Amino acid sequence: MYDYCIVGAGITGITAASILARELGKKVVVIEKRDHIGGNCYDYVNEHGILVHKYGPHIFHTRYKEVWEYLSQFTEWIPYVHRVLAYVDGKYVSFPINIKTLEQLFDRPFSEQEMRDWIEKEKVPIKNPKNAEEMVISRMGWFLYEKFFKHYTRKQWGVDPKELAPEVTARIPIRFNRDDRYFTDPYQGIPKNGYNAMFEKMLEHKNIEVVLNTDYKEYIDAISFKRLVYTGPIDQFFDNMFGGLPYRCLDFRHQVIEEELYQPAAVVNYPGEVSYTRVTEFKHFTKQDSKKTALCFEHPKDHLSEKDVYCYPFPVREALEKYSKYKRLSKKIKNTIFIGRLAEYKYLNMDECVKRGLDIKNFANTQADQNERFNYLGL
Ligand code: FAD
Ligand code: UDP
Repeated sequence: MYDYCIVGAGITGITAASILARELGKKVVVIEKRDHIGGNCYDYVNEHGILVHKYGPHIFHTRYKEVWEYLSQFTEWIPYVHRVLAYVDGKYVSFPINIKTLEQLFDRPFSEQEMRDWIEKEKVPIKNPKNAEEMVISRMGWFLYEKFFKHYTRKQWGVDPKELAPEVTARIPIRFNRDDRYFTDPYQGIPKNGYNAMFEKMLEHKNIEVVLNTDYKEYIDAISFKRLVYTGPIDQFFDNMFGGLPYRCLDFRHQVIEEELYQPAAVVNYPGEVSYTRVTEFKHFTKQDSKKTALCFEHPKDHLSEKDVYCYPFPVREALEKYSKYKRLSKKIKNTIFIGRLAEYKYLNMDECVKRGLDIKNFANTQADQNERFNYLGL
């Protein structure tokens, strides 16, 4: 008899398991469909000794002190601050847009005031941007939109940016200074020995059992438990009764080349004509010494079957409406909590997933169902 059954050994499920076992003394079983723990944060050391992120670059960043401190019990950190370059007009330029970007594009110095004046003339007056295109042009105008956002977003999502929710591009700021960090959170880093070494430590507890290579639906009748934490796709929990929710998927093409370094930053974005969106060079994260270097090219594609990796919930109105139906239904399921990127159908960063795992302790001793969780969160 388990107190909790957790579906999914991604960062959400692992944090929930760790909290329930360590802080509340609960007996937990974690069921994972894949042959590894870590979900999309999974990393491994390749045959050349380089630490690689299987499902694209994962940089940990957070403003939540409690999240950082919780994980820091299980790992030390490489103090990495993420700086991205975009390959535009045959040069590597700073991204997100800041004073340096304009200087690199126009090959001349800009003061803060000059940048403000330039952007003021460029931007399109739209009070409430309704889609991902309007979000960018209202903040910086057509010129920068065309160079940095239009093609990248079209490649990334496979549709015109006009069809996407404004939140998609709102994630990317514009800065009127020389701050070229991708994230401005006070806590940033890469786990010293990788995410999976950290996850293994989080799961190392006498009250936690992990079952891999198993779809929970095929296993759940064989065990008994009091409560469920579900971190898988919410539509599948309900047997797709309102239809499947769409996802965008990436083909992660890994490659090792005989060069010490391939590019000047860990991540270079390609907003131009090539079919990939980003190239990651992992050695920049770890500063590892090697005559070879490991790269990952991200080629966006449609999500066609359950075998494809679930990368991004699709931010269009019809999908969000369909999700609301599942969300409503989830409130009626007793003793079950739905958390994480797939169960909430929401573009969550890792720290927000950890936060959800930590929050479980606030209602795990109560009836612990989704309705209660929403009440707790004020949703
Ligand atoms: P997942 O990692 O998807 O885990 C869910 C698990 O449930 C999976 O392992 C799945 O196999 C399992 N599962 C599903 N169905 C079943 C079933 N029926 N039975 C058993 N198990 C099941 N975030 C950041 O903070 N920083 C970054 O730099 C960053 N980069 C990213 C780059 C890319 C390309 C992508 C796609 C995401 C990135 N993220 C980043 C987001 C990060 O990956 C997510 O926040 C995180 O992985 C979500 O964790 P999760 O546990 O909710 O979901
Ligand atoms: N984006 C873009 N050009 C870029 C980087 C991002 O147009 O060079 C857009 C794109 O639509 C992307 C969104 O901004 O989906 C959010 O970018 P982010 O880098 O946060 O995406 P993620 O790392 O989650 O893939």
